[in-house]
Amino acid sequence: MFVDSVLKLITSTFVFVKNIRSNEDALTDIRTSMISNKALFKSALELERYYYISSQTLPRRYWRPHGFATASDSEQITKAIKFHKLADKTLADVIESTLGAAYLTDPTNTSLKLALQAAHQLQVPLETVLLWSDFNQLFEAEKIECLYDASLRECSIERVTEIVGHTFKNTGLIVEALTHASVPASSVPCYQRLEFLGDAVLDFCVTDYLFEKYGTAPPGLLHNLRKSSVNNDILSVLCVQLKLHTHIRHGSSYLLESILQFVQLVQGSTEKEGEYWLDFNPPKVLSDVIESLIGAVYVDCEFRLEPVLKLFKRWLKPLLEKHISLQSIQEHPVGKLKYFVQAYGCHQCETRNITQNASGPKNCIVFIHQKPFTSGSGLNTREARKEAATRACELLQQDETLLPRLCTCKQSIDF
Ligand SMILES: [Zn+2]
Repeated sequence: MFVDSVLKLITSTFVFVKNIRSNEDALTDIRTSMISNKALFKSALELERYYYISSQTLPRRYWRPHGFATASDSEQITKAIKFHKLADKTLADVIESTLGAAYLTDPTNTSLKLALQAAHQLQVPLETVLLWSDFNQLFEAEKIECLYDASLRECSIERVTEIVGHTFKNTGLIVEALTHASVPASSVPCYQRLEFLGDAVLDFCVTDYLFEKYGTAPPGLLHNLRKSSVNNDILSVLCVQLKLHTHIRHGSSYLLESILQFVQLVQGSTEKEGEYWLDFNPPKVLSDVIESLIGAVYVDCEFRLEPVLKLFKRWLKPLLEKHISLQSIQEHPVGKLKYFVQAYGCHQCETRNITQNASGPKNCIVFIHQKPFTSGSGLNTREARKEAATRACELLQQDETLLPRLCTCKQSIDF
C-alpha cells in the first residue's frame, strides 16, 4: 500500500511537470503506461510475497533454530545471523529497504531521494529526474506563462487564501483549482490537471498518516481504513466544513442544486459520529476541489511535500481523528458490510439503487457476485441502502458458510 502511494506520487508529479499542456485523461494514460508496462516492476509488486518466502538463500554456516545461539558463536557470526538479510540484494530487498526506509523516516528530502532511487531501480522511466528538486526544474522549463489575470475573476482570492493558509506566489492557481469544466468560455483551464496531481499527493499524505497511526494493523484493515479516509464522501464533507463550496466557479444550475442539498445534509449532521456521510451521495465537484487545491499548493510550493503535509494535518486529519477508527469503519451497516465482505477476500459485493419511479419509496438491492442477495426500501435511497446492508450483514453473520458458498474470488487467485 505504501509502495503504491509513493510511486503514484512520484509518477504523477513527473507526468504533470512533463506534460503541462495535456488534459487529465491524457495524464492518467501516461502515468498508467509508465508503471504498468514495466514487467519487472509489475512482477516485483505482484510477487512480493513470493520473493519474501523463497528468494532468500539459506546460508548453512549461519543457520540456527529461531532464537538459538551457541557459546562458540563469534561476534561476527552472531551479527551475520541477525543481519544477513540486508546483504542479500534481491529485488524485494531493494523495494522493501529503500521504500520502507523512506516511509519510516519523515518525508524529508533524504527519504524522498531514497524513494526516487527505488523508483529508478524499479525501472520506472523518470528520465533525468534524480533529485526531488528536479521536478521543479523540469516544470520551470516546460511552464506556460499564465495567460489570465487572476484578479479579474469572480473568485475571492483573499478568502480562499485564508482557508488554505498559504499565500500563493501564483494566484492563478487558486482560480484554476476552483474552476469547473462547466464554466462557459472560460479563459482559465478547469481544475482537472491540478486534481490529478492533488489526488496523488493526498493519497500519499493519508497513507503516511495511517501507517503512523495504525502501522501494526493487518493489511486488510489498513486497506479499508484508507478507503474510509480518502473518498468523495469525506472530502466533500471537508469542502463544506471549510466553506469552500461557495467559491467554486461553475456554470451549472443542476450542480448548484445538488451542492445545496448536500450542504443541508452535512449541516444537519454536525453531532453525528462515525462515517455519517456514507450515503449522502455528494456531487463530485466538492471532493475534486479539495484535491485540486492541494495540487495547487504542491505546485506553488515547488513540489515540496512539507507544506501539503501541513495542510493535510490542518484540513483532513481532524476529521479522520474524530470520525475514522478501526471500530467506526465497522459500525455503519454499509461500511460494516463492505468490511465484512472484504475481510473475507471478496471484491464483488455492491449495493444498487433499483427504484423505478422518481416519486414514492426507494428500493436498493445488495448484489454478491452479480446475484441479488438482500433488498431494502425506504423513503429515500439512504434509508433503502442502510436497510439492505443491515439485512445482508445479519444473514452473513448468522450463517458463516454463506459467503464462502457465494464467493469465487479466492478461486481466481493463483499463487
Ligand atoms: Zn467474492
